[in-house]
Amino acid sequence: QHAETLNLRSFVAERLQGYLSMAKLHDVTLKNEIPESATITVDSKTLLRILQNLVSNAIKYNRPGGQVTVKYSVNDSFWQLHVSDTGIGIAQKDISRLFERFYRVDDSRTKQKVSGTGLGLAIVKELVDSIGGAIHVKSQRGVGSTFTVEFPITDNT
Ligand code: ATP
Ligand code: MG
Repeated sequence: QHAETLNLRSFVAERLQGYLSMAKLHDVTLKNEIPESATITVDSKTLLRILQNLVSNAIKYNRPGGQVTVKYSVNDSFWQLHVSDTGIGIAQKDISRLFERFYRVDDSRTKQKVSGTGLGLAIVKELVDSIGGAIHVKSQRGVGSTFTVEFPITDNT
């Protein structure tokens, strides 16, 4: 792992560009609400893979006319990346299983419409563990979900 210091807002803005056509296809708007002042030290490859998996889910499991919002927050020991959607949401009973390999929520309508292998979140969890971070999910069926990743703040930040 190679940690580098970067401006989070521009990092996310650049990566969201790559999802514009996918978002358009799903009629979903992408919003970058990270403050200009957010400077973080992180392995950028790890951050990129986490962001890609969470953003693609937030687009895929959204609704037409919906939104995906990326936010930032920080405290003394870690900083957080929040990826929120206005999509189908996840039932409480499924949340605990989301990070298992090949697990996909058994909603027959969604499963038919949205393709996937069920590996994205398992990979995210492995990456988050590898950097000593954590991931939390808040969701409400029919309203949407927020995935929050906590990144430990390193000494050289
Ligand atoms: P892959 O990411 O490998 O292409 P996938 O998206 O199905 O496939 P995961 O990213 O691991 O796999 O997600 C697992 C399951 O969790 C999904 O199939 C979906 O049922 C549910 N899920 C993930 N993200 C969301 C979300 N933002 N809103 C609603 N459900 C979600
Ligand atoms: Mg996925």
